[in-house]
Amino acid sequence: MFRTDPLTGRVARGRYQIWNIHNARCLVQFHEPKFHFVSMKRQYFYHLHSTGTSPCTMTKDAYQHARATWLCTGCAAPKPETKSVDVKIQEPYPIESPLTFVSGCGIAIANWEFLKGLNEDILRRDLFLGKVIDPTGIVLRDWVTWRGRRRLIVRGTKNVSHRQCDICGRHVYFAMGRRYLFPRPPTDALIYESDLFGLVTTREVIASITLNRWPKLGLEKLQVLEKPKDSLPELVLK
Ligand SMILES: [Zn+2]
Repeated sequence: MFRTDPLTGRVARGRYQIWNIHNARCLVQFHEPKFHFVSMKRQYFYHLHSTGTSPCTMTKDAYQHARATWLCTGCAAPKPETKSVDVKIQEPYPIESPLTFVSGCGIAIANWEFLKGLNEDILRRDLFLGKVIDPTGIVLRDWVTWRGRRRLIVRGTKNVSHRQCDICGRHVYFAMGRRYLFPRPPTDALIYESDLFGLVTTREVIASITLNRWPKLGLEKLQVLEKPKDSLPELVLK
């Protein structure tokens, strides 16, 4: 029952009721499909990526193992069916934070504290996570490898090059100029992996992290275009 405020005459709600209403709203928001998955109508996404130039390098034995298992030797990236991957790196730990990658094998690496700030439930649903191991064999708890369940090509407008890998069929793409997305990302995810080792996601997801806390972290807004500006057809990463 609502009480009437004696001063204003307005209906007053008890603290418990307000707390319940607040929590009910939070639960509704959390369980709304538009937050669990991307809306069909969404026009803009955000690309978080490294602005550094010092990736990690795999150890020789790890690289040989990768070539024999999950690494496509035609395009130096994980075979399309690859899910989580563990990597052993030559460096004692990744130099750049929070996003970097392992050169020559297409594996993205992230600082775990940064990544889990995005919403741990969603990232565990949308990403395949793996271990980063130092040269002595110790697992680096502050770091993870990650691979998107859904992966996107961030497209450009000039100096465009494109080929399909002879072995796995993956689209290998490069372009400069203004970046955008085409086609529209699949709607069954909220966090995607870009072909630039970055995270593509929504404004609501990145709102939970303090971006300026992290060095060498780039953020760009990507529009979904109805027609690409690089004279190429739909390019979908499997
Ligand atoms: Zn390939």
